[in-house]
Amino acid sequence: MPEVLAPGAVIGIIGGGQLGRMTALAAAPLGYRCHIFTPEEDSPASQVAERTTVASYDDEVALSAFAASVDVITYEFENIPVDTVERLSKLAPVRPRPSVLAVSQHRVAEKDFARDAGAGTAPYRHVTSFEQLRKAVEEIGRPAVLKTCRFGYDGKGQVKIAAETDLAEAWESLNTDDAVLEGFVSFEKEISVIVARGLDGTSRAFPVAENHHVDHILSTSTVPAAIAPETEAAARAVSEALAERLDLVGLLAVEMFVTSDGKVLVNEVAPRPHNSGHWTQDGCATSQFEQFVRAVTGLPLGPVDVRFPTVMQNLIGDQVEQWKTIVAEPDAKLHLYGKAEARPGRKMGHVNRIRVS
Ligand code: AMP
Repeated sequence: MPEVLAPGAVIGIIGGGQLGRMTALAAAPLGYRCHIFTPEEDSPASQVAERTTVASYDDEVALSAFAASVDVITYEFENIPVDTVERLSKLAPVRPRPSVLAVSQHRVAEKDFARDAGAGTAPYRHVTSFEQLRKAVEEIGRPAVLKTCRFGYDGKGQVKIAAETDLAEAWESLNTDDAVLEGFVSFEKEISVIVARGLDGTSRAFPVAENHHVDHILSTSTVPAAIAPETEAAARAVSEALAERLDLVGLLAVEMFVTSDGKVLVNEVAPRPHNSGHWTQDGCATSQFEQFVRAVTGLPLGPVDVRFPTVMQNLIGDQVEQWKTIVAEPDAKLHLYGKAEARPGRKMGHVNRIRVS
């Protein structure tokens, strides 16, 4: 029997964004307290958590004090230095373990890992110079996508290599010597699975969400996904296999493409709650945030059945103004993140529209 953290224990969350906020909100009914570590004043997470340390991610003194004050440490975004998390793991259990972070922080490590686990990916080459880019484009062909290996998100740090694209310009524009060239997948759908794995090694994959992006940012996630049952089963199985191979304790979000012949290709993984899992808050027997809390505290995982077909819609930038009409819709559940300023592209909240009948 793994060691279960009893209610009253403190979960330390590195990162103060909306994922930390919704994790802290899900921890409260189970009796846990949350301590947020973030460089940001008045962060979305700290507004709803018992305690916050505001300090930079390289402030070793603050990090040690944080670690000493919590019973378990997790994180709500993955761009924290692995060294920092390694050091913290000497002071308190870190879940998911630091090696999981290392895989998710580098696109080539991520793809190598997925391939080694038997998952399909787009064809790819690690590219560290312009010469290598030229060679990789010859091998993979056009169209292709060139991405920085680290710190890319929402389409930032990537450029499409079309038939007419000037390679030198594309290479210059990324301004890196650590990139990956991927073959362009003419996918039929983009889907994702959030899989949870508990301290006892049990894993449970949430139903597949079908994702629609606008300007490279997730716009909607729909559950159930309109895919064949075999594709749904394959996507969930691949996600569970990845979680198992990482010896994960926590959540893993797996973003995938479905090709026209029904094949599932892994695009990206993230060891944390994910925007495409927000539908679970109102449409699923257990929300991804509660499941996350259950996994890192050693509780048994909750059931993942769909309770209501759900469409999650992000409220980005000034779309947040729609709150006024959303709150009057009978089957809409509004989730706002407490961010003061609605900048373009900024995720301000989301709405889950559930189908009750
Ligand atoms: P990423 O940052 O890898 O999640 O990519 C952002 C978005 O770009 C994805 O959600 C896809 O819509 C698109 N994309 C990324 N990689 C590829 C690819 N190899 N082929 C086709 N589309 C891609």
